Formats: sequence, C-alpha cells, structure tokens
Amino acid sequence: MWMKMHEEKYMRFPGGKAKAATFSYDDGAEADLRLMKIFDKYGLKCTFNLSNPDMICKKWTRRLDEDGLYKAFNGCGHEIALHGQRHLFLTKVPLAQAVSEIVNNREYLERKFGRIVRGMAYAYGAYNDDIIQVLKQLGVTYARTTEVTHDFSIPQNWLKLKATCHHNDAQLDGLLQKFLTDSPLDQTKAREPWLLYIWGHSFEFDDNNNWHVIENAAKKLSQSGDCWFATNGEVYDYVSAYNSLIYSIDGERVKNPTYMGVYVEIRGKIYCVPAGKEIVFDK
Ligand SMILES: [Zn+2]
Repeated sequence: MWMKMHEEKYMRFPGGKAKAATFSYDDGAEADLRLMKIFDKYGLKCTFNLSNPDMICKKWTRRLDEDGLYKAFNGCGHEIALHGQRHLFLTKVPLAQAVSEIVNNREYLERKFGRIVRGMAYAYGAYNDDIIQVLKQLGVTYARTTEVTHDFSIPQNWLKLKATCHHNDAQLDGLLQKFLTDSPLDQTKAREPWLLYIWGHSFEFDDNNNWHVIENAAKKLSQSGDCWFATNGEVYDYVSAYNSLIYSIDGERVKNPTYMGVYVEIRGKIYCVPAGKEIVFDK
C-alpha cells in the first residue's frame, strides 16, 4: 500500500537504474593515459578537460604534447571538454580575451578530434556571471567549478556545476560507502536519483603515490551492478531529455519528444518512455 504514496515522478537512469557515476579530470596530463586504462578496465566513463597543448605554459611538465594528446583521446570512449586554450583565470582577463580563450579552445578540440565539444571545466574553478553569459552565447552546456556538494544530488545549475568531491577528499571513503550500500529506492520520500561525481587531476595520483584510491573506487563501483556509468556530457544529455518530457494535465500520459529512451518511476514502478513515443502509466 505504501506505493500509493508515490504519485510523484522520479527520474531513473538508463536501464531504470537509480544511481549514476561520472568523473571529471583536468589538464591533459601524461598520467591521463594510466587513468583512462583504469576507467576502461572497470567500464567507467570520464570527461577529460583539455587546453590547447601548444598554448599552455611550457613550465608545466608532464602534460601531453599535441601528438600525445591526439593519440590518447582520439576515438576513446570518454568525453573531451573545454578547459580554456591557455588555462588562464577567465576572471582575470578582459572579457573579450576570455571569449577568445573559450572559442579557440573549442575550435581546436572540435577540429582535432572531429567531434562536437560542449562541456567545460573552469581553469582554477574561476568564473563569474559575465563568463557564464559568454558560455551560454557560445553553446557551452555545462561547466564544472571546483566547488563540491558532498552529496549525490542531480545538478540544477549546469554552468555552476559542482562535483560530489575531489578524489583526495577526506570524505571520499564515507561517501563511496554510502553510495554503494544505500539507495534512493530504499527511501520513502527522498527517492530522487543519485549522481556520484568525482573530480581531480591524474598527475595528483603520481604526486601523492595514491593510485590505489581511484583503482579501489573504480573496482567497487564496477561491482555495484545498479549504477549507470556515463560522461558528464552523457549525464547532461540524459537529464535534459528527462526534463523535456511532456505530460498530460493529470500526469498520467507522457510523451518523449527526444531521440533517447527515458525512464520514469511512478507508484513504485519504472517505465521506459521510448524516443518519440507516448505512454500511459498503469493505475
Ligand atoms: Zn586545470
């Protein structure tokens, strides 16, 4: 009978899953290769935020050069996203220069890798309202800050995107444990889906000699069985598709105008609304 309480609708991820995990790593470091191997080994997906390798400061060692970057990321199953062509504080240059930093970065990555690049991570986590307006004008759909939530909430403001935590966060173990053992499906009221979002730099694993942190997290997540693994952009696209659903006034009929199937839970039952189709929920 308790299910009668749940007239509310809850987003479910592909396959009807209630949890998703995503990763975001910055700077195009040589250690990205080792990190990518770990993600590939365990079937996880990451977004790598890249500057233009020929434009960044030469003092920064252990970054991939142009050839290295191409070999590492061309055709990989992960997302590449913007990080500013020279990794400047976008808030410390004239706005026109900030525009050029983003445009040139996007143009470079799209031409080099032959794909559309719409995601971003702010270099140094630096942004302001003017930069956000610029990103909207330039078709950037989400941009990650360096702020963290220490929770699994679905992002509301995608141009001020916050991660759950950095991989060196003292709370990582506890958050991971909660994510793996609890579930929104066990909650009576708070049945919103969970997103675990971890960010960092791959070279930090070398600096801190702690590759086991990501290896352990990836292994545990891969064994969970009830989690969707997706890039930042895939999560954004899926949430956008869910938010595009069109309902009848009584909420019992729903149409999916998008190109992907979308999952909805109502009254404890999970439905897939196929791309371009309309369904009616069971009473
Ligand atoms: Zn960076």
